[in-house]
Amino acid sequence: MKSHARVVVIGGGVVGVSTLYHLALKGWTDAVLLERAELTAGSTWHAAGLLPLFNMSYTVGQLHKYSVDLYKRLPAETGQDVSFHVTGNLRLATCGDRMDEYQKYCGTANTIGVPFQVIGPSEVRDLWPLVELGDGAGTPKIVGALYHPDDGHIAPADLTMALRKGARSRGAEIHEQTEVTAVRRTPSGEWHVTTNKGEIVAEHVVCATGNYARQTGRMFGINVPSIPVEHQYIVYDESPELKAYRQGGGRELAVLRESDQSYYLREERMGWILGPYEAGAPARFADGVPDWFGKSLFEGDLERLLPHVEAAQRRVPSLANCGIKDIVNGPIAYTPDGSPLIGPAWGARNLWLNEGHSFGITAAGGSGWQLAEWIVEGEPGIDMMAVDPRRYGPYTSKRYVVQKNEETYRNVFVIHFPDEERPDARPAKTSPIYDKLARLGAVFGQRYGWERANWFAPPGVPAKDVWSFRRSNYFEHVGNEALHLRRHVGVIDLTPFTKHEVTGPGAESWLDGLVANKVPTKIGRIALCHALTRRGGIRSEFTITKIAEQHYYVVSAGAAERYDSDYLQQHLPRDGSVSLRNITMSRGCFVVAGPRSRDVLAKLVDAPLDNAAFPWLTGQVSEVGLATDVYLLRVNFVGALGWELHFPIEYAHHLFDAVFAAGAEFGIRMAGMRAMESLRLEKSYRMWGSDLTPDYTPYEAGLDRFVRLSKGPFIGKEALEKQLKAGVPHRFITFEVHDVTDADPLGNEPLFDRKGRIIGRATAGYYGHALQKSLGLGYVKPEFAAVGSDIEIEILGLRRRATVLVDSPYDPENKDLRG
Ligand SMILES: Cc1cc2nc3c(=O)[nH]c(=O)nc-3n(C[C@H](O)[C@H](O)[C@H](O)COP(=O)(O)OP(=O)(O)OC[C@H]3O[C@@H](n4cnc5c(N)ncnc54)[C@H](O)[C@@H]3O)c2cc1C
Repeated sequence: MKSHARVVVIGGGVVGVSTLYHLALKGWTDAVLLERAELTAGSTWHAAGLLPLFNMSYTVGQLHKYSVDLYKRLPAETGQDVSFHVTGNLRLATCGDRMDEYQKYCGTANTIGVPFQVIGPSEVRDLWPLVELGDGAGTPKIVGALYHPDDGHIAPADLTMALRKGARSRGAEIHEQTEVTAVRRTPSGEWHVTTNKGEIVAEHVVCATGNYARQTGRMFGINVPSIPVEHQYIVYDESPELKAYRQGGGRELAVLRESDQSYYLREERMGWILGPYEAGAPARFADGVPDWFGKSLFEGDLERLLPHVEAAQRRVPSLANCGIKDIVNGPIAYTPDGSPLIGPAWGARNLWLNEGHSFGITAAGGSGWQLAEWIVEGEPGIDMMAVDPRRYGPYTSKRYVVQKNEETYRNVFVIHFPDEERPDARPAKTSPIYDKLARLGAVFGQRYGWERANWFAPPGVPAKDVWSFRRSNYFEHVGNEALHLRRHVGVIDLTPFTKHEVTGPGAESWLDGLVANKVPTKIGRIALCHALTRRGGIRSEFTITKIAEQHYYVVSAGAAERYDSDYLQQHLPRDGSVSLRNITMSRGCFVVAGPRSRDVLAKLVDAPLDNAAFPWLTGQVSEVGLATDVYLLRVNFVGALGWELHFPIEYAHHLFDAVFAAGAEFGIRMAGMRAMESLRLEKSYRMWGSDLTPDYTPYEAGLDRFVRLSKGPFIGKEALEKQLKAGVPHRFITFEVHDVTDADPLGNEPLFDRKGRIIGRATAGYYGHALQKSLGLGYVKPEFAAVGSDIEIEILGLRRRATVLVDSPYDPENKDLRG
């Protein structure tokens, strides 16, 4: 083994080897992979090799698509066959909600170019002659299906070997029986890696250690939220019926997924592999993989599998005639949301994760592709937020991860409703007034570990969601909350906001170099600022207030705490001129907004609140009721007259009670996250993470007024200048969807011109209760962005006519918020 490499990859499963291959492909051939046993010895060797393109996530969908395309061309490139059986993939539906899910997915598939077909029961039978369509009594009736003609299954070990060949032929090295046992930083900032075979120093380290992710993380001092869960499949003997079908000239059957019964079935040597995602599968190795485990499996647990076996036998009766040859029960890495961890680790430079893969055979190609891009180019080529390891925070305790991973595993095949809020490991992180909100009927959801009130059930209404792809039980109540705020006054608890304090003589110029807008120079001014990627995409959105000389208050999305904090920390100047404090947990935030908000706050604040004394986009440090040191900011995300109160957390109860007492005569009431969504859409306020992502620049997002090219250097500036010269490829639009009575856009739907050609994608959508319009936000080619343009959107399989509206269709002149 050499003593120095540019990059060391730890772990020789399919994911590590793919990372090595892609690094070498990008020219980083001074790359070494270290594997404690032999290649594929982790989960890779016993995987069933399915390659499902289906994924509800825009990001993961793109990674899977890349993989499937790559795996098809690898044999020609490397000379190593990978046994890719392009059988297609058939997902059955036995209820309307499931068809809605497939139709919603089709929108995503359309926007990323994955081929699919939605088919009816008779086409299912044509494709899969051995299937029982169901009588609706013993076996549920098939109402339709989603068919992917392009995917199928592969031999995971052969795939790994092909990637190995591709990496080695370019000069990368692989060392088996080489276990990484310790790491430390060298004084020059490199990684010093100790193995049982010697030492190696590397500029970058990638961890791709599968089931070992947590213990590998511990070596680096980070808590990686990945713990494996048991996963089983049954291997059957030959099936006489299948054999007869194949010998009669039938082609290999598509991989069959009966989602409503939570299993998959595929051919294997004239027999079957049946893989259920069953309830009760336990998390394993929460404290680390024991030495005895090695290249082993767990005992099979047939009891757990039986309900799925019986369901599969009802659907494919000939299965009952096959004997069981084997049960494979192995550890499968999971994360609390089921998506992998791909990208930089936090708090450590040049440490990268490619961990937590539960569909690692499918994701290996795409994850290696984008991680190599990120390492070599400094940033990924697509929006990777959905898999960025920093989407998690310090709240991922061992018990949290165990409970969530077990829940996620047993829910792999549930219907992925867009408003789904799963119950396990909750409540964990709460705002101080959580109990008060619960007493007001709050129906909570969870984001970044925080409990947030999505809506409030009025007295007599069950405080429970009925999840759906369509307007559901809370629609009317959310509407009432939104309208009440528009007409009177409402309160939203936004305590989870990420909050940083930036101080010191270098604070202003440092922040100015990070964001595209001019950072405020006058005390009390507020500016909306965007940190960009070097390609000019939007990575973060900050509301920056100048609190005092050399003192800035920086607020960003609650779910971006670690993502933003890590970024700010990494970019701090080394001369000590700036100090950065994450004060997320020490300040709470209430929004008090609506036409009567000034009257409410006037009872609690001595300073005048009129427009002259307290204009829009300014802030003051104030006493509010008995609370001191409250940052009173005249901004909000709902487009109403109003203030955000950012207060020392110990005043949460007092301020809540005081605001409600002061607002009683105006009928003050709470509004939840869903009302906020409706309100912000009416104002075309872009949401970080969905409307604002690294895929789009501020010019594409229509945020030109928040870019100051004249102000001096900032990250992303050159890319913006280039884009201005070359032409801005997309434009952000707000649109109204016509004739909708039931299903509004939600984001990720394709947008079409009147001739049916795809011209863009929606990024968000909902119903605007004040406007009484079904609304969407999204990006289209510039020629379709003019106000009044007729476009179309596909919602749950139906084409709808839509019209581009003026930006901020509710109160475009901002009279309300400047009122
Ligand atoms: C029963 C079962 C069926 C599955 N079927 C499918 C499927 O059909 N399709 C699909 O996409 N996915 C499937 N999976 C999931 C898939 O197996 C994994 O997602 C994938 O193998 C993960 O690959 P990996 O490279 O991340 O991890 P692994 O394959 O586990 O590789 C990690 C490697 O890191 C090494 N390592 C750990 N620590 C160190 C260290 N300190 N030093 C050096 N080396 C170290 C380990 O020895 C191991 O070889 C299945 C999983 C199971 C359990």
